[in-house]
Amino acid sequence: MLDGLCVGKRQEVYCKELSQQMSIVFDYNGERYPCVRLLGKFKLDNPILCQTNNKNNARCKKCWAKNICTFCTADVLLKNRDFPYKKLYCTSRILYYYTIKELLKLLKTNEEKLNTIISNYLSDYIY
Ligand code: SF4
Repeated sequence: MLDGLCVGKRQEVYCKELSQQMSIVFDYNGERYPCVRLLGKFKLDNPILCQTNNKNNARCKKCWAKNICTFCTADVLLKNRDFPYKKLYCTSRILYYYTIKELLKLLKTNEEKLNTIISNYLSDYIY
């Protein structure tokens, strides 16, 4: 979320590491996998990776938070949990709303603390 708010980068997909192949790992046969969580289960060329990682569904397309929204698609692929938008109320959208509200509150009441939060985030920013 801070990517979108502080750096101005749109989150076109749920996981940019997956789509930009930033976390590729290899097994002992030299097969490539998109991330360590998917090692041995979903190879890099599996079309389901792109299908799962895009926001091309009716709810996300209309959502005000779509450009800041991220999600670990490995969780969905590994069936650990489902997408938050599939619930009656998207849990991610509720959390984004709450977080932005709290950040704006800090802007009014304790700008120094807000600057520290953002500085800490940016100090470890790598892409
Ligand atoms: S907050 Fe929920 S509805 Fe909005 S883009 Fe993210 S997953 Fe989709």
